Amino acid sequence: VKVEEKLYVNRYLVDAGRPHIKVRPHETPSAALVALTHVCPAGCYTTNDRGQVEVAPDGCMECGTCRVLTADSGEVEWNYPRGGYGVLFKFG
Ligand code: SF4
Repeated sequence: VKVEEKLYVNRYLVDAGRPHIKVRPHETPSAALVALTHVCPAGCYTTNDRGQVEVAPDGCMECGTCRVLTADSGEVEWNYPRGGYGVLFKFG
């Protein structure tokens, strides 16, 4: 089974209007923020047309990669989703 097929069975309940991850406003993204557009396993981070990094945490697997990568810089505000929201894993 491919990893994409396993990820497909996960379910995600969006907490509309209350994203559990936010990127702090910035003009030019740091190397860590740019890296997140490549390493987030759920593809939540993208670069907008002004060159700033944005996050859309729908589908976030709570792996913590972005939290760890920006722990020192504080560029990402990270909280667990409210109870009942967020990812529901079907495997492990
Ligand atoms: Fe992506 Fe993991 Fe950060 Fe969620 S916790 S946005 S899956 S890097």
